[in-house]
Amino acid sequence: MPGAPTIREALDAAQQATSRIEARVLLREVLQQSDVWLLAHDDELLTAEQAQQYVALVVRRVAGEPIAYITGRREFHGREFKVTPDVLIPRPETELLVELALQRLLAGAPARVLDLGAGSGCIGITIAAERPQVQVTLVDASKDALKIAQVNARQWAPANTTLLHSDWYSAIGEERYDLIVANPPYVAEGDAHLQQGDLRFEPRTALAAGVDGLSDLSRIIAQAPQHLAAGGWLLLEHGFDQAVACAWLLEAAGLQDVFNAPDLAGMPRVSGGRLDV
Ligand code: GLN
Repeated sequence: MPGAPTIREALDAAQQATSRIEARVLLREVLQQSDVWLLAHDDELLTAEQAQQYVALVVRRVAGEPIAYITGRREFHGREFKVTPDVLIPRPETELLVELALQRLLAGAPARVLDLGAGSGCIGITIAAERPQVQVTLVDASKDALKIAQVNARQWAPANTTLLHSDWYSAIGEERYDLIVANPPYVAEGDAHLQQGDLRFEPRTALAAGVDGLSDLSRIIAQAPQHLAAGGWLLLEHGFDQAVACAWLLEAAGLQDVFNAPDLAGMPRVSGGRLDV
């Protein structure tokens, strides 16, 4: 019977099935060690149990399961967030939404922020962590998602975050906010991407929104004027081909200073507008 492999042999074998970087991420997970440690110890033997655990993780990855769901976490804007299949995996392009929000929240100035459809909480919690004087309310229609957001909020911004079970604005009452952010579902239900890659494993309710992907965006925009304070901003992430529709919806809702901003790939990704002062 062949013995257990060395770290190098295990990585070489796993690399055939996935990529070098993913092979390393998964082995780090099994051994609870850093990349540097793996490099320095690459001729050490795995135990039979570690080898078995490693094979099991590689098999899950080869079956398509997202790395973030296998490891249970994903980095976003410099912080690590807990993720499970109950929440969308934080994506780098969403950091643009956070940047645009932070630009509108001057350091030291108190403000009320609402994160609609918070999921893991990465948007609202990052804002709360970067702007301790701001009060952030995070809402989600999924109680399972709120449990994950709760863990992340406790980790990064326990003092200035509040979680609320709410279907968009349904449970927030008369409260008005200086800034509303959302990364709602915006993929068209028939979009082939839903059957590809990580999206196959993510909550469908966090991704798909009607035949044109606009049903949640239009609801959020139409009701925003009742929930914004005077001069308050609404900022939304959307699909690369939805900027014109969003601009139209924002203007139809009576918002001012409507704009669109491109993500790092040059795709229109975030639109916004503000309520009259
Ligand atoms: N940007 C995601 C994608 O990969 C979609 C996220 C969303 O619907 N909010 O398509």
